Amino acid sequence: MDLGIKGRKAIVCAASKGLGKGCATALAREGVDVTICARGADALGATAKELGAIGVKVTPVVADVTTEEGRKALLAACPDPDILINNAGGPPPGDFKDFGLDDWRRAVEGNMLAPIALIRATVYGMMDRGFGRIVNITSASIKNPIASLELSNGARLGLTGAVAVLARKAAKSNVTINGILPGPFDTDRLRGTAQKMAAARNVSVTVIDDERKAAIPAKRFGTTEEFGAVVAFLCSVHAGYITGQNLLIDGGGYPGPL
Ligand code: NAP
Repeated sequence: MDLGIKGRKAIVCAASKGLGKGCATALAREGVDVTICARGADALGATAKELGAIGVKVTPVVADVTTEEGRKALLAACPDPDILINNAGGPPPGDFKDFGLDDWRRAVEGNMLAPIALIRATVYGMMDRGFGRIVNITSASIKNPIASLELSNGARLGLTGAVAVLARKAAKSNVTINGILPGPFDTDRLRGTAQKMAAARNVSVTVIDDERKAAIPAKRFGTTEEFGAVVAFLCSVHAGYITGQNLLIDGGGYPGPL
């Protein structure tokens, strides 16, 4: 299927690795020029090279998307994107009693206010131009809160609520805003968490992985390629009637029918 977005411009945040890179790759394969960011220059440069080989224009911006300065740099590199993929690292795990207000402020800053700021800076231009696709990468935890990730549960649900009305307001201008809610995907982040869990229980990472996979109806982790493909479809001309939705991609992990 031709997604109909060849020649469009996308900002993909936090895209040197993992889910963000999966999105940037899928969009580049559709002929979309991508502006990608991450804090680490080396991995970002390597990813930019990989994406450039696909044959699109790739603009890497070393930037922390959770800072105003970082977002300014990103928007200076691509002031009028047709597509915005919001993403950043997740807040640290822990227990509610150990989190002070500063921990909450950091989580809200990174996983709620940063995407809101980028949406505000780009959505009205998209509406004026009559095309726009915004995808917020959140987490399956907004439907099914994860015990150790209370900061993430809260901040990401805040973002989801914050854009629900805007998604409807923008729809008449062919601009959509949707959330993607990943379950466990095979990325550095997931591997890092597995290593910590394995060390805490003095077992191998394979034991942890096998237990986690056994709890997923699909019996495996998701891949960044399949994640990117779903996001690219939501950014396509075919998805203009899908807005304000929050789509779980979790191998069936969420048990409810709705
Ligand atoms: P990952 O493999 O660790 O990749 C994270 C990417 O984001 C890297 O390119 C990293 O590069 C960049 N990044 C992190 N913080 C950034 C910042 N402040 N500014 C700019 N770039 C930043 O992680 P992932 O698994 O793809 O996860 C991406 C997001 O999805 C996270 O918020 C995570 O919590 C969420 N999520 C992941 C899963 C999963 O199973 N993988 C499930 C649910 C939710 P630098 O470090 O160089 O900046």
